[in-house]
Amino acid sequence: MHGEGLHASGEEGGDEEMNKELFPIIYDDLYQQAAAVLREINPCKIRRASDGSVSCFESRKYGVQDGDLCCGGCKHLGVKGCRVEALACKVWLCHAVKQTKAGQRAMEALEAIAAKALQQRIPLLYRGTKEECLKVMR
Ligand code: SF4
Ligand code: SF4
Repeated sequence: MHGEGLHASGEEGGDEEMNKELFPIIYDDLYQQAAAVLREINPCKIRRASDGSVSCFESRKYGVQDGDLCCGGCKHLGVKGCRVEALACKVWLCHAVKQTKAGQRAMEALEAIAAKALQQRIPLLYRGTKEECLKVMR
């Protein structure tokens, strides 16, 4: 699930020679930046009800059921939310929330983070873990 305050970005520009040993450090940094954007702007407004059900902006607006939220059906989804660090998911927002002012603001910052990842040749695998991204990195 999405959720989390803006903090300083990394170096601008690509690095064709990035050593794979640096990959986890850069990946983690970008993930934390994206998490911070979501924490600061909170576009999804995720809430957990007393019965344990989870809702977000989209589900409350369109009546989407709990299991059909953007993480629905994902093998990485646990009772407390996402159990992995999936950068591609962290820089993604659904169409509904992107129509809101908060969503647009968040998306601008998230797109900049996604662009930095791609400059660093980090694959953005939707529902992919850091380890899976490293495996397919060229
Ligand atoms: S991206 Fe959309 S569906 Fe996913 S948690 Fe945010 S508001 Fe809900
Ligand atoms: S990896 Fe799965 S549970 Fe985690 S944010 Fe992506 S869709 Fe949601």
